[in-house]
Amino acid sequence: MWQVIGQSRAVSLLQRGLERGTLAHAYLFAGPPHVGKMTLALNLAQALNCEAAEPPCGVCDSCQKIASAKHADVQIISLASNGDSAQAKSRAEIGIDQIREMQHSSSLPPFGGKYKVFIIDRAELLSIEAANCLLKTLEEPAGKAVFILLTINERLLPATVISRCQRLELPPVAIGEVEAALNSGRGIEPGKASLLARLCHGCLGWAISAALDDSLLQQRAEKLNRLLDIIDADYEERFAYAARLATQFSQNREVVQEILNLWLDWWRDLLLVKAACSDAITNVDLMATLVEMAGVYNLAQIRAVINSIQSAKEELKQNANPRLVLEVLMLDIPRKEGRANPTAQYSVKYG
Ligand SMILES: [Zn+2]
Repeated sequence: MWQVIGQSRAVSLLQRGLERGTLAHAYLFAGPPHVGKMTLALNLAQALNCEAAEPPCGVCDSCQKIASAKHADVQIISLASNGDSAQAKSRAEIGIDQIREMQHSSSLPPFGGKYKVFIIDRAELLSIEAANCLLKTLEEPAGKAVFILLTINERLLPATVISRCQRLELPPVAIGEVEAALNSGRGIEPGKASLLARLCHGCLGWAISAALDDSLLQQRAEKLNRLLDIIDADYEERFAYAARLATQFSQNREVVQEILNLWLDWWRDLLLVKAACSDAITNVDLMATLVEMAGVYNLAQIRAVINSIQSAKEELKQNANPRLVLEVLMLDIPRKEGRANPTAQYSVKYG
């Protein structure tokens, strides 16, 4: 049974290829983080090596070994598997040595299984030399090897690599499907499942991690509180915050993009509350705060903030000066003037 959830299009494509013997020798699974790319890749590796009549069965020796990462013919190449290459590690790249090793291994027949499967996680992190080396492997496919590249940003991959793979896009999973998956025997409280299904934006893996690890929801509360502090803050404080974010951005872009996504969700929720579409909001646990804030701003103000956050996100992606971009954003967030109770601090509690 295919275990990946909410990716029926990709699954039926692979299933058909399997039944007709028309599977490609290289795939590119593209989609946001935690959407199911690795699960699908491991499922495909199982399907290729399964011993049962209807692969992937999930229970045969081969399927179980793959699920527990103990199958000799299934290898995962990632930043983490980049053992000795200190140079590649310091650049946060998947290095050429890793791809050379893979190339060599792919030229040998499978040890015990039917196919060798090589999964390259975060393929966008391949160094230029590594990508060129991979290209040669993809151009001269070996008979019993299948390559699966996973990426969260295919724009960073050379077009020559993409064109040699069959590309499958894994879209975000629908809220209902995430919620159903969280509610099916995982022991997650339904209210929490409903919240996580909304917060994860279709990335089931994140929702499952957050259900198991409270620190993710704790971090969300902290980030939201900072947003609410900023709304109350004067420009000096806001600029100090922009400077801190800009420094953070130079160390880890994704963290700042996550904060901006969280802000975007918040202001979109305000818009939805304002438009009496509260059913569609993300932050379902903070309805009271949203309703209070929605009373303070008018529609035009909320829309303007949403536009500003979106522009900031886009400009950061295009390598604009982060401090400048974030300072402009700080100026664009309306102050609390006009609030019914301007001295009251908004705050979000976790738990
Ligand atoms: Zn099996």
